[in-house]
Amino acid sequence: MCYSIPGRVVSIDGRTIIIDYFGEQRRAVNEISNLKVGDYIYAQGGYVIDAVPDAEAQEVLALWKELFFELQERDQHLSGFKRMDKRAGDRLSLILERIVADEEEVAEEELLYLLNLEGKEDIARLMQAANYLRHKHLGNSCCIHGIIEFSNYCRQSCGYCGISARNKGLKPYRMTPEEVVKAACEAIDKYGFKALVLQSGEDSAYSIDNLCQIVSGIREREPALIFVSCGEVGLPGLQRLYEAGARGLLMRFETSNSRLYEQLHPGRRLDSRLEHLRAAFDMGYLLITGGLIGLPGQTREDILGDISLTKSLQAEMYSFGPFIPHPGTPLANSHSPAAAEVLKALAVARIVDARNAKIVVTTSFETLEKDARRQGLSAGANSVMISLTPDALRREYTLYPDRAHLNESLENQISDLLEILSDLGRAPTDIGVSHTAS
Ligand code: SAH
Repeated sequence: MCYSIPGRVVSIDGRTIIIDYFGEQRRAVNEISNLKVGDYIYAQGGYVIDAVPDAEAQEVLALWKELFFELQERDQHLSGFKRMDKRAGDRLSLILERIVADEEEVAEEELLYLLNLEGKEDIARLMQAANYLRHKHLGNSCCIHGIIEFSNYCRQSCGYCGISARNKGLKPYRMTPEEVVKAACEAIDKYGFKALVLQSGEDSAYSIDNLCQIVSGIREREPALIFVSCGEVGLPGLQRLYEAGARGLLMRFETSNSRLYEQLHPGRRLDSRLEHLRAAFDMGYLLITGGLIGLPGQTREDILGDISLTKSLQAEMYSFGPFIPHPGTPLANSHSPAAAEVLKALAVARIVDARNAKIVVTTSFETLEKDARRQGLSAGANSVMISLTPDALRREYTLYPDRAHLNESLENQISDLLEILSDLGRAPTDIGVSHTAS
């Protein structure tokens, strides 16, 4: 999905091009040879993914034009920040007023204060400020990534994870490379997805050659931005996947607290995870990363540390979702966090990286809270994922129990999401970060 709006190329400087969308300028990396000023392209995540013939571009633009401005207006209306004269002077008002004015950096101690808010009304005000910043800096575009979960085999034993090697109650499945390519091409061709995540457990049955075969198989057939999410494949593996055409890596560091990390991931080290993320960024990958919220033993300081770490990794997208206990794991008797904890984290992430962050409403949050999409998108988030894993297999990709949308057809999921986006005035597009943003 992510219906792209064709952008017109207004300048080309090596690999960097500037694109115009209805008067707004965006920057993108171009890897298509012979692209000229005046050509139309589709971009996704700051990458040009396809050139669009002029006639097709004009047709799509004509369809979009009215709707684009209508949605923008609705979003503008809904994302206003209401100043509260009555309460002016209280600490929350003072901090939020400074935040919405982009006056100065917010101190760590103030961010922690925001994460510690408890009152419903106060949390609503925090969300409103975050939503205002999202609108102010990134407009109303909301990117929608499709995710294909192609294997639930995993050699790792993460303490929270339902597909861990320790969970013997799992019904294992593996899609063949051909099946993954077919599912991806259908998602792109039939449903219009422009960004796909290919995810699996750490499954040794797929060699790097197999994974490369999947990525290049898709890229040769259809234009799309491909994220890989198969765990720690090693730095040479990452390099080969980039060469095969992957341009994104989805890999959470899970928690920035190295002690907690080691407790939850026996025999593994946070540094190795971070080394992968940093090396991937240096290779040119867009990063989607973040952590779990509400892990047993995790503090709000840890969550703030997770958000800061995501920013320092220069993530393209923040992925923060609640921990949901799975009965087949050592954490079976722990509890999920309250939805408000997730909303506060999304809002604080927006405040920390106001101008650049894409922030996703995760499926785990949708599993915890029915209204997660509306609430999350109104708390600073601007991205959503839809699972494209074939129905029968999706049931077995049990990272956590009772996953959201299990019994909904893809068509229904798409139409429900479009309705939510339309209500909120969001355009299901990814037109990237403004050319003028720092
Ligand atoms: N093998 C890949 C994908 C891991 S599974 C990798 O290593 O990156 C995808 C994500 O699901 C994990 O990063 C984790 O944050 C999340 N997850 C696993 N178990 C979960 C649970 N019980 N509750 C919520 N999220 C969970």
